Amino acid sequence: MRNKDAVMTRHYSILGVGLGPFNLSAAALLAPHSQSISNLFVEQKPRFAWHPGLLLDDAKMQTSYLKDMVTAVDPTSPYTFINYLVKTKKFYPFTARGEQTVSRLEFSDYMAWVAHQLPNTQFDTPVLNIMPHGSGFAVSTPHGQLSCDHLIVGTGTQPFMPDCAAPFVGERVFHASELALRQPDLRGKKVAIVGGGQTGADVFQHLFDGEFGKVAHIDWISRRPNLQGLDENPFTDQYFIPDYAEQFHSLDPKIKHTQLAQQKLASDGITDDCLQGLYQRLYHDKYVRRSPQWWRLLPGQTLTGMQSHQAGYQLATTATLTGVTTALDAEVVILCTGFSRALPQCLDTLSDHLDLDDEGRPNVNAHYRVKMREGSSLALYMMNVGTHCHGIIEPQLSLAAWRAATIINAISDTPLYDITHHHGLLDWTLTESSTQSAQMQKVAGW
Ligand SMILES: Cc1cc2nc3c(=O)[nH]c(=O)nc-3n(C[C@H](O)[C@H](O)[C@H](O)COP(=O)(O)OP(=O)(O)OC[C@H]3O[C@@H](n4cnc5c(N)ncnc54)[C@H](O)[C@@H]3O)c2cc1C
Repeated sequence: MRNKDAVMTRHYSILGVGLGPFNLSAAALLAPHSQSISNLFVEQKPRFAWHPGLLLDDAKMQTSYLKDMVTAVDPTSPYTFINYLVKTKKFYPFTARGEQTVSRLEFSDYMAWVAHQLPNTQFDTPVLNIMPHGSGFAVSTPHGQLSCDHLIVGTGTQPFMPDCAAPFVGERVFHASELALRQPDLRGKKVAIVGGGQTGADVFQHLFDGEFGKVAHIDWISRRPNLQGLDENPFTDQYFIPDYAEQFHSLDPKIKHTQLAQQKLASDGITDDCLQGLYQRLYHDKYVRRSPQWWRLLPGQTLTGMQSHQAGYQLATTATLTGVTTALDAEVVILCTGFSRALPQCLDTLSDHLDLDDEGRPNVNAHYRVKMREGSSLALYMMNVGTHCHGIIEPQLSLAAWRAATIINAISDTPLYDITHHHGLLDWTLTESSTQSAQMQKVAGW
């Protein structure tokens, strides 16, 4: 990790903006090649932090720890999760745990361990704006100006708030992404949780268990028709390998859209472990302890309105199946309503160059390079901006190392990582070349 006060007027071949998991993977894979490709990754936060407001105690990863920052493309790297276990002297205790998944806290600790030993990372360095500079970029930070030939933007997503809740956001109405940072005192409060995905389930469980004090009442409102499980079967997992991602990229945008809707639960459901734990708690509370009702699960209800009153807020929810709107009261509202993708402000100064689609989204090619308007050849790469281009793997850790290696190979003169031959069990034949090869195989009789 570089000191932020180091001389900042330097030119790099590659500059990375943001150090979440995705650019961290690129930084870890570029570190051994820094002699031939000069590079630096800058982050606005003072230390590595992975969605710190949602690092709830015991919340589990949805992906295997093998899908770490480097292993998929370089298992010999010093930055593997396994090496983290060895170097932090917990390899043997870890292997005895008998669990397939690790907690988000532990994975976050692993990523921080990587981030703070890399020589090509620098924290406390927000990028303020980015301007074209010759054939590359000039990047302004409070500590000085940097320049580079290639820019990799990995600035993540922004908390999404429903329109009706947005005017009330403050101390008692907030996005779940702030929960652990705020450590709210919810003792004796009537709380509404809005949003029925994994975050909603994690928050409900923590409130139920009294993590922020014993609440008086919880209403968990979800637009989804039920508590929907993550589709984790091994064939669904084939969506999360490079073969599928590569073929998906070449599909017609309208077909991509329908596929994405069909695949939603492959990345956006609640883990089986979590659902089981939740059900057991609720069964015990309702049928064994026979507690007076202090929680309600309200699936198939959309938050359609909100008003404030003396004691807190009145929420209007509309039932999907009947269209009937009902009201409920809450003193605290926690919005587990996901994240949205808007271009980061630091790119505003490049807006004349970006060739965005009709919905204002960047077009990202198979190597994650953003399409520029005619006449501009700026080499801008972006991660986690294009489910509309790359599919459901885009916001997911599964292909983080493969994607970072894809970008690095595209930038370097010779490929630095072998990213070929990742074929799964399913023959998707989504692209012409794979259709042709399937036809040839048919002719050949297999
Ligand atoms: C609670 C939660 C749990 C998740 N769990 C899983 C999981 O188990 N498995 C999985 O596959 N996926 C998971 N995901 C999805 C995905 O892995 C994460 O969202 C991941 O953090 C995305 O990484 P990122 O690098 O794109 O963005 P982020 O993690 O958001 O990082 C972006 C970074 O850029 C920095 N930044 C922004 N603007 C600037 C600027 N102008 N200058 C400098 N720095 C800047 C930010 O401070 C931030 O640190 C989870 C997501 C959430 C929210």
